[in-house]
Amino acid sequence: MPRYFIWTIGCQMNKAESQQIAGYLDSAGYQAATSFSHADLVVLNTCVVRKSAENKVLGTLNLLKGLKNEHPNLQILVTGCLVNSDSQEVKRRFPHVDLLFKPGDYPELIAWGQKQGILIEQRLLRYPRNDGWIAPSPCALIPIIQGCDNFCSYCIVPYRRGREVSRPLEEIVCEVEELARRGIKEVTLLGQNVDSYGHDLPGHPDLADLLNELSSIDNLARIRFLTNHPKDISLKLIETMASLSKVCEHLELPVQSGDNDILKAMRRGYSVEQYRELVHTVRRKVPQISLSTDIIVGFPGETEEQFEHSLSLAQEMKFDVVHLAAYSPRSGTIAWQEYQDNIPAEVKKERLNKIEELQTAIASKINSHLQGKQVEVLVEGRKKGKWFGRTRSNKLVFFEDAGDWLGQLARVRIEKTSPWSLGGEVKKIIN
Ligand code: SF4
Repeated sequence: MPRYFIWTIGCQMNKAESQQIAGYLDSAGYQAATSFSHADLVVLNTCVVRKSAENKVLGTLNLLKGLKNEHPNLQILVTGCLVNSDSQEVKRRFPHVDLLFKPGDYPELIAWGQKQGILIEQRLLRYPRNDGWIAPSPCALIPIIQGCDNFCSYCIVPYRRGREVSRPLEEIVCEVEELARRGIKEVTLLGQNVDSYGHDLPGHPDLADLLNELSSIDNLARIRFLTNHPKDISLKLIETMASLSKVCEHLELPVQSGDNDILKAMRRGYSVEQYRELVHTVRRKVPQISLSTDIIVGFPGETEEQFEHSLSLAQEMKFDVVHLAAYSPRSGTIAWQEYQDNIPAEVKKERLNKIEELQTAIASKINSHLQGKQVEVLVEGRKKGKWFGRTRSNKLVFFEDAGDWLGQLARVRIEKTSPWSLGGEVKKIIN
């Protein structure tokens, strides 16, 4: 039986698409391999959002050149954000690649498969091969909208993934019903900007409408979604979150900077004041909400004072999680054309360290309030002899127990907290 290996880097969308590709290859009679060197077919699902990710991708492509020399029959497929409409340069630099296909361009993959004699119906791709179908994880990632129309000045995503295209609501509902029948208990709805969901569909359903539909699916216990955009998230969505018990109390709400001039240069479309107001509204309507954000430091021209504004906003907002990144110029973006990357790497590093230190203290305090409390955990798997899963607020919890907890909703009493995870003792199964 031929074997495949999928290498994935980047966002949840890439992970979801890798699951779909794995589903396609499984159905075509391939078997998953444990490494590049054990595979007959390799798929690289790439990310170029930051220079560091792109370097990893290019390094891996170089590594595969050697492997292809040793095994000329090895087939190498590349997808993800490295691939754009003009991939001539990638083809020229990496002639050992057999197929480049744009993210989500399954017709291209299928056409290639058919040429190789892998005949497969497209509908099989609709259902992600959740890892769970092999080792039953209870969670599935569901892309609901592709692309982005926002053009934030630093971001390459709209150039690589194109304009927004939503999947029909009925198709998503059908897919989740099928997944729930197969034992999936939690779905995470994915999009670069989930708040844009549905604007391009007949009748313009929105994310709140989709949540309402999904909430009535039997056996589905939890629904999450990401990523939201502070300028687009609606009051209707926040109120829907508050009213539906299956929708988890967790939001990814990237602020990117705490300074109005930098936000303007980033073309984010909101001010710090509007963001603050939004967070207050969310916290008022959904009191248990856990908030994650993204912050970029070292955007071109960011002064020490402007950076301090980001630091003080993080201090004030007390996010549960902050995803940090140093600005990385991406060729073709507006910021790349208009500004010089003039903040030295060591200054960016210093700024990253300062926010990280602050956030560690904030997360440590927030999590310490869970000490002694009982939380609901959906158990996703086992690591180093311990069961692990997430709370509704997306906090990682570990516990030890001899029983089989995979896929169960467990009540766990928290006994140990840290800024990054929690540890506890399992109490009972929640039905
Ligand atoms: S909203 Fe902005 S940062 Fe997010 S994917 Fe779209 S352009 Fe990029």
